[in-house]
Amino acid sequence: MEPTGRVTLLYSEALYHYLLETSVYPREHECLKELREITSEHPWKVMSTTPDEGQFLAMLVKLIGAKNTLEIGVYTGYSLLATALALPDDGKILAIDIKRDYYEMGLPAIEKAGVAHKIDFREGRALPMLDQLVADEKAHGSFDFIFIDADKDNYLNYHERALKLVRPGGVIGYDNTLWKGAVAMPEDAPMEKPLRHYRGYVRELNAALAADPRVEICHLTINDGLTLCRRIE
Ligand code: SAM
Ligand code: CA
Repeated sequence: MEPTGRVTLLYSEALYHYLLETSVYPREHECLKELREITSEHPWKVMSTTPDEGQFLAMLVKLIGAKNTLEIGVYTGYSLLATALALPDDGKILAIDIKRDYYEMGLPAIEKAGVAHKIDFREGRALPMLDQLVADEKAHGSFDFIFIDADKDNYLNYHERALKLVRPGGVIGYDNTLWKGAVAMPEDAPMEKPLRHYRGYVRELNAALAADPRVEICHLTINDGLTLCRRIE
């Protein structure tokens, strides 16, 4: 089966397939595979987190000993399931998406994996929901990891809220921060409409994160670019 959301920054397609076949697919949970199969039928399958990135997120969650996480942008739930499988049995994920239908597509695989009890899915626009969370002082610093993978024009708004919600030493991950290479293309280069539309926002985010003294950053070239921000105490 082809990866649902293939985007590679590696030397070649063949190298990407080598990576998947050698180190990712043999370790991929059968329910993640099943979720990929379900997603492969969907017209927006390219939005899905790739299996290599899912593997990375799971490793990160374990390395930082995360117990309480937040995800913005669930789609059919590949990153959500990868995270849920990596969390301890009493771990929790608050998952937000404007479309419950997408989440429900992948839900049978999540249930089969036995991790649905870790997930609190809420349907709606993320920004007002984050504002609601931030209004509750008890939620401040309560998340170990926040994964942001939704509307790129709101990432900077999410950043301000996420910084309040993540604990000092905790991590926020911003996905698609290399935007299929469009961030480095000259203004007059031919680009598909959505690439052109969002690339300014992604460039603005990248510049703002690089200059933000409240976080340490690491801009990874996995999948379509993933920027990790560690909140400084
Ligand atoms: N992390 C997902 C995965 O692993 O498959 C992919 C997420 S997909 C790239 C982006 C998702 O963000 C879509 O499901 C879309 O419905 C959701 N979204 C877009 N704008 C949103 C908003 N303002 N608030 C909440 N969700 C939003
Ligand atoms: Ca993504």
